[in-house]
This record gives sequence, structure tokens and C-alpha cells, in this order.
Amino acid sequence: MEFFCTISYAQTNLSIPSETKERAGSEMSDRHAHIQEIFNSIQGEGIFIGLRQVFLRFCGCNLNCSYCDTPETQIADSGRCRVWQGCEPEEGFEKPTELSENTIKTYKKTVDNTNRLKFSKGFLTLENPLGVDIVADVIKEFWSPATKHVSLTGGEPLLQSRFIRRLAEVIDLPLYLETNSTLPDAASDVAGLIDVAACDIKLEESGMEDDCDLLRDKTLRTIEIFNNNNCSVFVKIIILPQTTSATLISAIKSIAEINPEIPLVLQPITPPINQSERPSPKNITEMMDAASRYLRDVRIIPQTHRLLGVL
Ligand code: SF4
Repeated sequence: MEFFCTISYAQTNLSIPSETKERAGSEMSDRHAHIQEIFNSIQGEGIFIGLRQVFLRFCGCNLNCSYCDTPETQIADSGRCRVWQGCEPEEGFEKPTELSENTIKTYKKTVDNTNRLKFSKGFLTLENPLGVDIVADVIKEFWSPATKHVSLTGGEPLLQSRFIRRLAEVIDLPLYLETNSTLPDAASDVAGLIDVAACDIKLEESGMEDDCDLLRDKTLRTIEIFNNNNCSVFVKIIILPQTTSATLISAIKSIAEINPEIPLVLQPITPPINQSERPSPKNITEMMDAASRYLRDVRIIPQTHRLLGVL
């Protein structure tokens, strides 16, 4: 998933040790989760763009895409979870205002006793793993009249699918899942609880070392599972400068075989500065025409949260 962070696109080719990837899945618990940050902001991608959501950004990812702009989430345990009061990143990132151990303990007691949050300046930090009750309290505190979904993002949220099941039991709010679509068993676990599934398809040019055919098979199974469980499903594909209609088309045909009504978002990669790294408009419109031969709803939607300067 792509979201704003202070580490630039050009800096993100981190090498993630395989044991870290394995830990991401092996430490699953239904009552606790490793979460990178929680905040209320505006959805900046996909067909629900512009809606307010409370975001839970989970730690850990089983992939290592070359364009990942949240590489910090690829670590299964970040140690701390940032809880943002506002949705503007600059203040907190420039001058972190981490609370002392003592204050965190007091905070936890305060949450336990009163279900209210106490903040110091831009954000507070909490020790991972977070209990489901505290996460539910934060979500309820951050829910505003405009908010429409709890966005489960990452990293890869389905690595902690048991926690998602438990969370759905304690909050009665619409769940919006952003997934890399490579964990069909976990998708089966939660499909009936998810209202919106934003499913990525990774093209070969995503730069992963994994077996692309196997990943594609898992991806299609995941999309099919959500499609068959009354979720509102859409598919998102990141378009890189080297992406062409030829590299895209087999993925498009596979989506159409599942359901030609599934909306497809082609998301041009958002390079930070270098204009030449953008896919060309000619290529993008050709891809749109090629995809529209098989799918009824094809849209080009770039990221917008960076334009707004929100998390
Ligand atoms: S699936 Fe998303 S979070 Fe994981 S490496 Fe790829 S872009 Fe990053």
C-alpha cells in the first residue's frame, strides 16, 4: 500500500531479512496486534478517494515491492505505535514528542479507567503489541461525523487477520481493507467481516524476488474470495514508467474472468521530484483503453493525500 511517510520513494529499497517476514505472520494473536500508527485522515487512493477514515497501519509485510513508500511497515514489530491527534505529519515527524515510560503506563491506566485518550502535543506513542480494547478505544475516540470506515492498511493487515476478526467483534463500524492480495487463507478468515476490499495486483515489474506466478495465483484467489462474500471489491495496479499494455493485459483478463464489473484503478506511481520517473500520459491512456476491452469500470486515479499534505 502506498501512503505518505518521511522516507522518500528513492530511499526505499530496504532489504528485509527473511526471518523478519516470517515473524510477521508467526506472532499472530487474536487479542493483540503490532500496529505502526493510528490516525484519522482522508483516503487518498482508489474509488473511495476523499472519504474520511480512521487508519490502522499494521506492522509487517510479506512482500518487498521496489516502490514501497512505507518500508518501515515491513518490520514485523516497530516497538511503538504512533497515535496521531491530527492528520498533518510535519509537526510530529520534525519534533517527536514521545512520552516517557511512566506517562505511557499512566495513559494505559487512564484508558482502562475512563476510555478517554490523553495527548501531549502532536501524537503519543504506545508500546506494541496493542490490546484490542485499547485499539477499539482509540478508533471510537477518533471517529468523527464525517468518518465512513476504519481503514485496515499496512504493511499487510491480513498477516494479523485473527486480530481483525476480534476487532470486528468489539467495534460495530464499517471495515475497509487494503491488501496486497497474496494471503488467500487469511482473506477467507475475514471476508465476511469486510465491507470494502481494496485489492492490489502486483505486476512483475514491482521488483519482488518471489515467484510471480505463485503470487498471481494467490492474488486471484484472494480477489475471488472477497468478490464472493458481498464485499465491495476494487482492484488497484501501480503503473510504473516501464509498464505497458502487454505487461498489464493478463492480469486484466484474469480479473474479468472473476467478475467484469470489478472496478479497476490504474494508479500511476507518484515519484517525489523526478518528473522523468512518471509513466507517460500516452502509455496510461493506452492501458486504460486496453483494460476497458475486458472490464466495465476502469479509472486512472493518482494518489491525492500527498497533494493535500495529510497522512
Ligand atoms: S505490499 Fe505494500 S507495504 Fe508491502 S512491500 Fe509492497 S507496497 Fe510495501
